[in-house]
Amino acid sequence: MKLIIDTNKCIGCGVCMQIYPDVFELDDDEGRALIKEADEFDDAKLRDAIDNCPMSCINK
Ligand code: SF4
Repeated sequence: MKLIIDTNKCIGCGVCMQIYPDVFELDDDEGRALIKEADEFDDAKLRDAIDNCPMSCINK
């Protein structure tokens, strides 16, 4: 699966990292979310992160 964060829209709020810290982390320099490498994803957590992103900027 290819996950993409629209970094032009991300505000670095941290919601996705709180929901699914194994996959999302904060880029301290840019103040935006980054995606960690992952072989497989927990669909429920991923859906939760996508649905709760206030900027709707996580796409798969
Ligand atoms: S929830 Fe959305 S806006 Fe907030 S840090 Fe994650 S990707 Fe960025």
